[in-house]
Amino acid sequence: MYDDMMKLKSEKSFTYVPDGSTLTEALKRTTHLAIGAHPDDIEIMAFHGIQQGLDHNSFTAVIAADGAGSPRAGKYQNITDDQMIATRQIEQKKAAALGKYNLLLMLAHTSKEIKNPKNSIIIEELAQIFMATNPDVVYLHNIADKHHTHVALALKCLVALRTLPKNKKPKKVLGCEVWRSLDWLSDKQKVVLPTSANEDLALQLCQAHDSQIAGGKKYDLGTLGRRHANATFFESTKTDKESSLCFAMDLTTLIHEKTLNPKKLIKKHLAILQKEVFENLVVPSMPKKKK
Ligand SMILES: [Zn+2]
Repeated sequence: MYDDMMKLKSEKSFTYVPDGSTLTEALKRTTHLAIGAHPDDIEIMAFHGIQQGLDHNSFTAVIAADGAGSPRAGKYQNITDDQMIATRQIEQKKAAALGKYNLLLMLAHTSKEIKNPKNSIIIEELAQIFMATNPDVVYLHNIADKHHTHVALALKCLVALRTLPKNKKPKKVLGCEVWRSLDWLSDKQKVVLPTSANEDLALQLCQAHDSQIAGGKKYDLGTLGRRHANATFFESTKTDKESSLCFAMDLTTLIHEKTLNPKKLIKKHLAILQKEVFENLVVPSMPKKKK
């Protein structure tokens, strides 16, 4: 099923090339690569990359987890984990077709495997994917995300990227917004990704994941709302050039430095935030009491 360039590790994994090309062709076409933990994460965090690939058939999406553990409600209330996995695979394929993705790779690992820091098989698999796709830009979860699986996966991706030879490393590695917005980053530290175009498509991509929205979470409205809020509240003194923005954290330095020290990067960002907030806290003097 897979060619020599890549062997996925899980028996449940699969690949999908929406335009019917061979896997080898699709791997080579990749310019923008997004790696999300769950089916629906990429549509929430990497719409900028999806847009870049629309006209060039060059956006590749990788989903690491099988999505078994998602909350369920309504018509999905009584389905088993296996049925949920199958449902989410169909939804993710629908999104890939709608968004004209070049390639979808579903790695089908459990969350537990992704969160296990001793699991190096997933790191090897990710390194293989990076080598075979050789992208210019990589979209990952941001390392200050609230979801443990998201952060664990982003760190595995960073370790895998560090193993690549210099000429195979991507130009940019971006940590994106899902379970924590990045408005808190200082404006100078933000990577600002315009997402105003193709808003109908952006909505349809989120709504392809019906099992998640029916599960009681309005991810479609929340995702587009965050992008609008990012654009509106970005610059207080200028009118908006973009109606929709995603923010990202630049993680590129972490794949080049001698040792991987993600805490150092976050500490730097937090120190800048603290300085900016504290500088504004100039307490006014009390009015003098009249005698
Ligand atoms: Zn997720």
